[in-house]
Parts: sequence; structure tokens; C-alpha cells
Amino acid sequence: MPSFDRRGFLKAAGTGLVTLAAGPALARAPLAGTQVPGLYRMKVGTIEVTAILDGHLDLPQALFPKATDGETGPLLDRAALPRAPHVNSPVNTYLINTGDRLVMIDTGTATAMGPTLGLMPKNLAASGVTPDQVDVVLVTHMHPDHVNGLITPDGKPFFPNAEVVVAGAEYGFWTDQAIMSQAPKDVQAFFQMAQAAVKPYADSNRLRRISADGEVVPGITAVAAPGHTPGHTGYRIASGNQQLLVWGDIVHAAAFQFAKPDWSIAFDSDQNTAAASRKRMFDMTATDRITVAGMHLPFPGIGNVVRDGDAYRFVPVSWRPI
Ligand SMILES: [Zn+2]
Repeated sequence: MPSFDRRGFLKAAGTGLVTLAAGPALARAPLAGTQVPGLYRMKVGTIEVTAILDGHLDLPQALFPKATDGETGPLLDRAALPRAPHVNSPVNTYLINTGDRLVMIDTGTATAMGPTLGLMPKNLAASGVTPDQVDVVLVTHMHPDHVNGLITPDGKPFFPNAEVVVAGAEYGFWTDQAIMSQAPKDVQAFFQMAQAAVKPYADSNRLRRISADGEVVPGITAVAAPGHTPGHTGYRIASGNQQLLVWGDIVHAAAFQFAKPDWSIAFDSDQNTAAASRKRMFDMTATDRITVAGMHLPFPGIGNVVRDGDAYRFVPVSWRPI
């Protein structure tokens, strides 16, 4: 075989010795019609992080109470997105291999939220990890798109050997029967789903309540970010001089909220506190150049926050070898 390197290729191309696409060879195959596995991997120092896609939601623009039609159109144009009434919002989860622990951050929706979601188990398998290998699940908050993947459809633990870690304020809120009984009927369903998701872990003494901030697993620290929910928590992964802040639901629509940090989503239980946490996270990660990962940022949901005038812009990570 002749050696074939870049220099040889360029030389041959220059002398016309390379003929491309010769002949009528047509590769006919049925269209796949489905996506490839939703996985992306990166390193944070010596720690390996795998983004695992659970699927996507279509969020109506009306969920952003402060947004006006005059503002959303230009923001969608700027993001090269259609001026549609819905914005696409993925649901991401993250698998962290610290070297001696396998840690999931959030778990996706399982079957709770329809056919465009619930892909985490399939994508976790595609990453080469089985649920019984997972040691710890860190919960950012107890909404169904984050904790429903903790259980199988028949209510058994999806991660049979894992300890679940959640902020005490978050656990206390969703398991409080008095708060639940005062909530509107459709919101009560959220309480019931949250309680069912953590129950088998709590029943077998595998649920740890934490008070942010502090180290939860060697190399991973909880960072309180309340507002979206009472105990909403981010997790900072640090190794060597590198950091990744998995910030949960600080942003639901990247096209809107980096430019308009004030725009809380209707799901934010305290709109003003959520906006304050969002601004604090944007300022900190832009100033300190900390890479972020978000459950509803465009998959893999990893990138950097940069300042843009009085507001911010999201720069998604570019593919690179590990
Ligand atoms: Zn969410």
C-alpha cells in the first residue's frame, strides 16, 4: 500500500491524480428517521463528564410573563430560530465519573412527560453505564423533568445502588402535606410525582438531605441557587484548575434569558429570587470564566457565559477530543 498522508494527498490533488466521486455508485438506504444517541463527553481536570440527553420540551413564549412580542421576535432572529410560538428546550442530565464514584446529576422525566422525553435510560446505556453502577444521584430540584427518572414506571428505584442527595429545603417543600393541600389541583400532581420519585430511596435510608453550600461528593460542591424552587441547587465540579458549574434550571430558553436575565419563567416559584439567582450566576461565571452546564440549555447544554453590553450571551462548547 502506498503511504497516504496529508502532504501526499495535497500533492496528488494538485497534479490532478485524485478523482473524486467517479462513476455512478449511488448508496441508497432508507432514511434513519431517528436521532443518534444524545451523548457528549468532556474532561474537567481528571474528572470525566458525560452529557446525557433525556429529550426536549416545547415551551410556549407565553410562559415568560415579562416578554413582549416586540422583544421576542428580534431575539429569535438573533438566535437564527423561527418566530414560532414555542421555543425548543432540551432536557439534559449529566453523568460524572470522579475516578472513584459514578454520579448522576438529575435523571430526566422517565414516562412522566410524553413521547419527546424519557430517553435518559437509552442514552445512559449507549454511554456504556448500567444503572446499578451509579453510586450517587445529585438532585438540582424536584420537578418531574429532573427526578422522575429516579424510578421505573412501577415505582422501583431506577438506580438500585445509589444514594440520592437533595437540598433539605427542597425535600421539605415537596414532601410537606400542608403545603401540598393548599396548592392548586394541577400543581398537586407535581408534589405527588416528586414524593413518589424519592420515596423508595428515603424508605431504604438512601436519601441524604444537604444544606447548600458544601462538598457533597469529593470534587463536587453544592451551590444554592433558590428561586426556581425553594431549594434549587447547582453543583460545582472542580479538579485541578478547571471547573464546571452544573446550574440546573437557571435558564429555560437560551435565546431569551441570556439577553434578558430578568425574564423569569412561569415555573419559577419565586420570580424575583429566581431572577436574582440568574443574574448572580451569569455574573460569577462570566467574570471567573467558569464553564456551565444547564438542564435546559441547547444539548449538550455546556458552554460559557460572556458579557454582551448590559446583558449576556451563551457560547456553546465546540466539539473537541477528550
Ligand atoms: Zn426543568
